[in-house]
Amino acid sequence: MELNLSRDKIALQARAREFSQSVVRPRAAAIDRDEQYPWDIVKAMAGAGFLGMTMPKALGGQGRSFLDAVLVIEEMAKSCTVTARIVVETNMGALSTVMTYGSGAQKKLAAGLVLAGDKPAICITEPDAGSDALAMTTRADRRGDKYIINGKKHWITGAGVSRLHLIFARVFDERGEELGIGGFLAVRDESKGLRVTRREQTMGLRGMPEGELTFENLEVPADMAVLPPSGFRRGFADLMNAYNSQRVGAGTVAMGIAAGALDHALDWAKTREQFGRRIGEFQGLQWMLADMQTQLTAARLMLYAAARSRGPDGSAFPDPMLAAQAKIFASESAIKIVNDALQFFGARGYSRELPLERMARDVRMFTIGGGTAQVLRTLVASKMLGWKLPQTRAGYAPKPSMRGAAE
Ligand code: FAD
Repeated sequence: MELNLSRDKIALQARAREFSQSVVRPRAAAIDRDEQYPWDIVKAMAGAGFLGMTMPKALGGQGRSFLDAVLVIEEMAKSCTVTARIVVETNMGALSTVMTYGSGAQKKLAAGLVLAGDKPAICITEPDAGSDALAMTTRADRRGDKYIINGKKHWITGAGVSRLHLIFARVFDERGEELGIGGFLAVRDESKGLRVTRREQTMGLRGMPEGELTFENLEVPADMAVLPPSGFRRGFADLMNAYNSQRVGAGTVAMGIAAGALDHALDWAKTREQFGRRIGEFQGLQWMLADMQTQLTAARLMLYAAARSRGPDGSAFPDPMLAAQAKIFASESAIKIVNDALQFFGARGYSRELPLERMARDVRMFTIGGGTAQVLRTLVASKMLGWKLPQTRAGYAPKPSMRGAAE
């Protein structure tokens, strides 16, 4: 299925597929079993040019598009979810935030680290501020030419392996007046006061550490504040807009896992025999295959369209509506496709000797991280209605203008 891809994109996809099958697939089970971040694969991907592809050529990147990154992520996810997530975070997420809003020095710092194999971490979620990210309490206080950051984040992907951190915090000026929410760059090991205080015990994605970070008087030079053009007041909205690329990336990882699982199921349907026939000859399974393929194709089309899109006002990022819908659909469909693929294998599907059970654990995450499926539905509905839809109890009371529109 070519889906209107240029020759260059088909070649990139083929190169990623070959790399995925020959380098990544043989390592995938061990990465999960040993719960070890795959530094060997990171090194191989840096050599193969899969890290920092979306960065400008002037910074050592290849000036590639989000769709290019999506094609690579899909191929990696067919073999290993952890590897695919590394491609997401070295081409989208925090990196694309810095590449869009960062100063020259910030871009150089991020580019150098990524090309050397660093997977930047994005630090938003706190124990009491999950979906309600605006409730974050981590604070950055201006002191002369520095900000002093105090607070705690949890479920941070790459905790303990990532060097570059984009930390979201409430910003206060020297007089203690709150300015809004900003993003700050800190490099672990070069920044006293940034500590990993816990590793989460995850269901899947076990080669990628998720952890709690504690900031105790973490000093960040003032020029390491990532300042969108609208400043701190609207900064959070701008910085979160950058997250639309990450959402497309996360949806693609889910879709790639599903594609990999479906490949396994299809092969098995053609070879496994029961009742003297190949199981693919039973209509019950044929219709499952057709449904799985249909959902996969729809998810792929939505993700490719979202990756190609741009938000309103000349945004450098995918359209928020398309990105949210693609992530909702891809993550939910992928869970079903992988679950059905596992069913094809009967007892074998439930065994740790086959990759299906790992895929089923890994794929479960994608309706949660990067905005839950529920919260993304609220975003979609909010744009459909043209209402802000605040979720706090106080904000939920219908405003007179809304009441009129609802009646
Ligand atoms: P809660 O916000 O407590 O939600 C609990 C449930 O209530 C969910 O089902 C949610 O959908 C629902 N809910 C909440 N509010 C509403 C509402 N208004 N309407 C309807 N339903 C609602 N965060 C980072 O900052 N950086 C990372 O790198 C990162 N990586 C992650 C990796 C993994 C593997 C996971 C699992 C999470 C990661 N997260 C990360 C955190 C993730 O973004 C949050 O888990 C997510 O935003 C949800 O927050 P929560 O877990 O606190 O759930």
